[in-house]
Amino acid sequence: MRYYDKLIFELSRPGRSAFSLPSEAGSFKPTSGSIWRETPLDLPEVSEPDVVRHYTNLSQMNFGVDTGFYPLGSCTMKYNPKINEEIVSQFNGIHPLQPASTTEGVKAVYDFMDKALAEITGMKHFTFLPCAGAHGELTGLMLIREYHMSRGDSARTKIIVPDSAHGTNPASAAVCGLDVVVVKSRPDGLVDVEDLKPLLGPDIAGIMMTNPNTLGLFERDIKEIAELVHGCGGLLYYDGANMNPLLGVVRPGDMGFDVMHLNLHKTFSTPHGGGGPGSGPVGVSERLVHLLDKPRVSGFHGNFGVILRACAYILSLGRENIKLAGRLSTLAANYIKESLKDSFKLPIESVCKHEFVFDGLREAGEVTTLDVAKRLLDYGFHAPTIYFPLLFHQALMIEPTETESLQTLDEFIDVMHTIAKEASATPDLLKTAPHNTPIGRPDETTAARQPVLKYSRQ
Ligand SMILES: *Cc1c(COP(=O)(O)O)cnc(C)c1O
Repeated sequence: MRYYDKLIFELSRPGRSAFSLPSEAGSFKPTSGSIWRETPLDLPEVSEPDVVRHYTNLSQMNFGVDTGFYPLGSCTMKYNPKINEEIVSQFNGIHPLQPASTTEGVKAVYDFMDKALAEITGMKHFTFLPCAGAHGELTGLMLIREYHMSRGDSARTKIIVPDSAHGTNPASAAVCGLDVVVVKSRPDGLVDVEDLKPLLGPDIAGIMMTNPNTLGLFERDIKEIAELVHGCGGLLYYDGANMNPLLGVVRPGDMGFDVMHLNLHKTFSTPHGGGGPGSGPVGVSERLVHLLDKPRVSGFHGNFGVILRACAYILSLGRENIKLAGRLSTLAANYIKESLKDSFKLPIESVCKHEFVFDGLREAGEVTTLDVAKRLLDYGFHAPTIYFPLLFHQALMIEPTETESLQTLDEFIDVMHTIAKEASATPDLLKTAPHNTPIGRPDETTAARQPVLKYSRQ
């Protein structure tokens, strides 16, 4: 163990401090004793170099999109331009209770984003309150329910969700109090229209769809699906978390969707590993606009920093290059898919959009998708999404995004071929990987069920 791998609590020495203040600062006295802690906070007492080294070393034990290629399917881990951070840092000091006359620039950002997203998606208007994709789903479903209720149509309590959907879709529907009805996919990975037809009726609030779906496939029957669902009085919800491949190519509004969310923190940049921060604005078509100010799902105006980064991203790409983002993300995914299909099982052959799914190695032997994912870390690549979607047993879901160079994609392809060879020649190397990361292979179940997340002093 390196000496600086010690926990900061272990470096702590009584009375040591990382700052010095004038002595009178210590004479501060509270107006009322009742708010004072009875015992001092149990914080590590360390010097400034200890603090700096602690955080710098921690940051180097992690993997991020600024460290290397991060092809995590269904998550869009794209490179985030640093100018966005620069711009956001200028707004650190604003407060939501500031007088409106001092925040006109902020209002201009919201107005611009409403117009830009409406143009990109074919929706009429957006609310920027939701702070994540799943939060947007819940908001959108609340709008759908409100729409039916406001028309006295209270029997619509069911929502249709394809079996390929992202897990948040059925979860959001359940939180919204809707009953989930599953529609099956065909062997080619698209929603089975014949399976959908008998599900439709006066109890259907709508359908939630992702297009391209979670397998990265464009739902070609979307026009027919829209007609069928609208025909039974239901609405169409679009999960636009990963809209990259459609940017400037197709608009959900034109496909017949009534309500949708975007994940600004995926499609329009913002570093979002580890669960935040996010923004999941919800757009609606003309017939739902009057309901848009109803759901108050967060305080004030949502996650302004993420909205501003998206604004900077859209403006710096501009109308023409945004179209290129969609096409490049699709090209990159198909390039990797075609380059690796000799080594990995490709259950669905067709042209994909921004992502695709392998079903493990062709010549796997004892080697699983988990082993491949762990071995990739040794080569400096983050693993793709694994064991999702649930339609395949050894799923490896790869999304390269539009921000990687051809050289990086080629390096990744080479390494994946190398790992496929290792799987046959030296399977133990994969079974015991990773070998050169700060932590090797923890017991997955214990790590998930009994994570040790805090230090307890003996
Ligand atoms: C990421 C994702 C979501 C959820 O977004 P969060 O911001 O993580 O809540 C929903 N649907 C799809 C298709 C996604 O990829």
